Amino acid sequence: MSPSTEASKLPHSILIVGGGVFGLSTALALSRRHTGTITLIEAAPTIPNPHGSSVDSSRILRADYANPAYSRLANSALTQWRSTPWGHDGRHHQNGLVLVSSTATGHEYMRRSYENVKRLNPDAVQELPSAADIRRVVPGYGVGSHVNGGYVNWDSAWGNAEAGVRYAKKKLDEMGRVRFLVGQVERLLIDEAEGSKVTGVRLSDGQTLSADLVVLATGAWTGKLIDLRGRAEATGHSLAYIRLTDEEQRKLNDIPTLLDFSTGMFIIPPRNNELKIGRHAYGYRNPTIINHPTAPGKIEVSLPSNDAPLPLEGQKAARAALRGMLPALGERPFTKTRICWYTDTPEGDFIISFHPEIKSLFIATGGSGHGYKFLPVLGEKIVDAMQGQLDADLAALWKWAEKPLTRADGSVATVWTEDGSRSGVKGMVLAEELAKGDGINVSSRL
Ligand SMILES: Cc1cc2nc3c(=O)[nH]c(=O)nc-3n(C[C@H](O)[C@H](O)[C@H](O)COP(=O)(O)OP(=O)(O)OC[C@H]3O[C@@H](n4cnc5c(N)ncnc54)[C@H](O)[C@@H]3O)c2cc1C
Repeated sequence: MSPSTEASKLPHSILIVGGGVFGLSTALALSRRHTGTITLIEAAPTIPNPHGSSVDSSRILRADYANPAYSRLANSALTQWRSTPWGHDGRHHQNGLVLVSSTATGHEYMRRSYENVKRLNPDAVQELPSAADIRRVVPGYGVGSHVNGGYVNWDSAWGNAEAGVRYAKKKLDEMGRVRFLVGQVERLLIDEAEGSKVTGVRLSDGQTLSADLVVLATGAWTGKLIDLRGRAEATGHSLAYIRLTDEEQRKLNDIPTLLDFSTGMFIIPPRNNELKIGRHAYGYRNPTIINHPTAPGKIEVSLPSNDAPLPLEGQKAARAALRGMLPALGERPFTKTRICWYTDTPEGDFIISFHPEIKSLFIATGGSGHGYKFLPVLGEKIVDAMQGQLDADLAALWKWAEKPLTRADGSVATVWTEDGSRSGVKGMVLAEELAKGDGINVSSRL
C-alpha cells in the first residue's frame, strides 16, 4: 500500500511514542478527530518530562520566520496562545521580540522575516535601523558594536513551556480519549512477511504493544529507533541561568525578548527572579555508536546526553552575551546551566510523514529548535498529513526527503541546520568540547 492510499483513513488503533510537543499535539487532534483507540507511551515517568526538549521555563512564541508558510502557521498558533485558555497562567506574555544581526545570512533571514510579519500585522512591526533605535526599545540593552540594525515585533511573545506541556496533558486527561503508558520503546516490531510493516513496539522490559499505526514523536531520540542519518540529528544547545534581585526582576519583567542572529544568543524576560541566556546556533553533536534496530550492524548517530554539563565554550559564550546585552548583570554568576536537545534537519523543516519503506509507521519530529510555539495547532496538521489532507506548502516542507544529505563523495553527510537562522562555530562535538576544560562548577569564575 502506498503512503497516500494508507493515509486516506485513520486505522483503528494508534500508538503515539513520545509525550512532548509533537506527541501531545497529535494526541489532542486525534482525540477530536479519531473514533478508534489512542495510546501514548512516554519513557519519562512524568509528562512534562524535565529532560524533554519541550520543557523549560520559557520559549519564544513568534511568527518571525523567513519562510512565509511557517509565519502563517505560527500566526495561527499565536492567535490560540493570545486569545484562548492556551495562553492563560503564564503560558503567553506579549512582550515583543527584538531581532538584530550583523552577519549576511542573519540579515537575510531577518529581512525576509520582517517582510512576512509586516504583512501579517503592519502596526505591530517597527524597523530599528540604528543601535540608538534598538536601545530606545530595550533600555539598558548593551547593543554590541557589531549590531547595525534590526526590528521589533510587538505581536511576538514568550511562554512558560513547562506550563504549556502540562496544560496540553491536562486537556488530554479531561478529554479522556487517550490511554497514557510509561515505558521505554526499545524497537519497532516489523513484520517482514507483510513487506516491512510495523505491527507495534517492544519495550525495554520485554513487553510488547500492538497497534495498527505507530507514530514516532520521539524528538531527539528518534535516531535510535529508525535510521535518520542524513535527515536529522540531535544537537545540544546551551542554556545558562542567573538569579536576580526583586528590583532587577521588576525592571526586566516586561522587556522584549532579544535575539541576536549574528551570535545566536537570546535573552527572554525573567520570571521568579531567574533570567535565562540561551543560544540558537549550530550546537554540539553527541556521536554515539549503537546497534541500530533498523539498520544493519553498528552505526553512529548523535543522541541526547541528559546529564552532560555545559562545556566551557558554551559558558563563555553565555557570559559574553550577558556582558554585551545586559552589562549591569555581566558578572553575575550562573546558578545553573543546561544542554537542551534539538532534532535538527538540513533546512530546519519538520519531518511529518509516513515512512516511505516501513508501512504503518508515521514520523512526527525534526523540531529544529522552533517547534514549541506550534503546540496548539501542530497536531491538526500532523493528522491532516496522516489523512493525506495537509496543505500543499507544508506537505512539501515536511516530506520525508527522497535522499539523505550527502557529501561530494556520495557518503551520508552530518546534518547541520542551514535555514539562515544559525550562526557560530559549526562542527562542535560535545565530548571534544568537554575535554578542553572543566565544564563543571566554573560558572561563578567566568
Ligand atoms: C534550548 C531550546 C530552546 C528552544 N527554544 C524554542 C523557542 O524559543 N520557541 C519554539 O517554538 N521552540 C523552541 N525550541 C524547540 C522546541 O522546544 C522543540 O522543537 C519541541 O519541543 C520538540 O518537541 P518533541 O515532541 O519533538 O520533543 P520532546 O519534547 O523531547 O519529546 C519527545 C519525547 O519522546 C520521549 N521518548 C523518546 N524516545 C522514546 C522511547 N524510545 N520510548 C518512549 N518515549 C520516548 C522522550 O522522553 C520525550 O519526552 C527550543 C528547543 C530547545 C532545546
